[in-house]
Amino acid sequence: MASPLSIGITRDDRFLAHQTGLSHPEAPARLAAVYRMLDYEFAAVFAERTPQPATLEQVEALHTPDYLRMLLATARRRFTNLAADTTASSYSCYTAFLAAGGCLGAAQDVLEGRYQAGLALVRPPGHHAQADKAQGFCILNNLGITALELIKQGLKRILIVDWDLHHGDGLQRIFYDSPQVLYFSSHHHHSYPHTGGWEEAGAGQGAGYTVNLCLPPGSDDNDVVTLYRELLPQVVERYQPQVILVSAGFDGQRDDPLSNMSMSRAGYAALAALLADLGPLGGGAPLMLALEGGYDPDQLAACIRSVLLALLGEQTMLERAGSERGAEMAEQARAVHRAYKVWVD
Ligand SMILES: [Zn+2]
Repeated sequence: MASPLSIGITRDDRFLAHQTGLSHPEAPARLAAVYRMLDYEFAAVFAERTPQPATLEQVEALHTPDYLRMLLATARRRFTNLAADTTASSYSCYTAFLAAGGCLGAAQDVLEGRYQAGLALVRPPGHHAQADKAQGFCILNNLGITALELIKQGLKRILIVDWDLHHGDGLQRIFYDSPQVLYFSSHHHHSYPHTGGWEEAGAGQGAGYTVNLCLPPGSDDNDVVTLYRELLPQVVERYQPQVILVSAGFDGQRDDPLSNMSMSRAGYAALAALLADLGPLGGGAPLMLALEGGYDPDQLAACIRSVLLALLGEQTMLERAGSERGAEMAEQARAVHRAYKVWVD
C-alpha cells in the first residue's frame, strides 16, 4: 500500500442553494449525498476548507461583461432560464462564484503545499460554460477561471484532465490556442455537446496541446484505464505540468441516468491512483480534482468514496488493466498527435 497523500476537501452547504427546478438532474441532492458519505465514512480524516467566492475580476478574465451583467441580474428573480438545459434560482449566481472560487482556492492550496491533493466538491459544474453563455448545467467555467488566474500568477504549464462522460467544450475553446494549458479529455463523442473529435488538437501556439479521446458507447473501466495508462505518463513526462487539475465527472458510471458507458467506481479509483502516481506521490505536480457531472446521487457518492480511498493508498485495478480496445484508442491518439511533437514524436 502506497503512503497516503495529505488531502484537503472543499465543501460548503451553500452549494446546495443553487436550485435547478423539479426533476433537473443537476440537483442539490447530488452534493448532499456526497457530504453525507464524507461525514459517515471519513469523519475527521481530511482537512476541510470553506471556499471563498471568486472575485469579479477573476471571473471577468474569462466571461464577457454582457453575460456577467445578465447573470448578476438573475439574483433578483426567483427563476431564470440561462439556456435550454441550464437554470438559475436567485442564489445560483452567488453559488457559481463560490464554485469557481472554491476550485481556485483548492488549487492554490495544493500549489502552496498545504496539501498534496485537493478535492473541490462544488456545484454548479463548469466545463461546458463558455465566455458568453451558460450551457450544459454549467454557469461559470470553474477550472477555466482557475487556470487563467494561475497563469496570471505566473504558472506556465497546467494540465487539465477531463474524465467526465461529456466533452468539456468550454474548457477546450478557452485554451485551444494556448500551450499554457494542455487539455486532455476522454468523453463519449456522440453525446452532448458533440464536440471533441480526435482531430481537434489545438491551433496556433496551442497546436498539439488539446488531446481528445473519443470513447465508444459501453466503454468500461478496463478500456478507459488502459487508455489513460498508455498515454498520460508520456504526456506528463513531456509536458512537465506545474499543477494537474481534473474535471472529475462521474456520469460515465454505468447506472448514471445520463450514461452510455459502463464504468464503475473501480475505474475512477484507478484513474485517481494513476494521477496521484504521476503527480504528488511520484514527486511530480500537485493534484486538484473538481467535481463536474454525476447524476445518481448514491453512485456519485460511492465513486468519490473510492477515489478518496485510492488517494489514501488503497489498491486499485490500475496495474491489472489491459484492454485491446483501450490500446487501440491510445494508438489513434498518438497517430493524430505525432505531427505536433508536443508529447509524442
Ligand atoms: Zn458530464
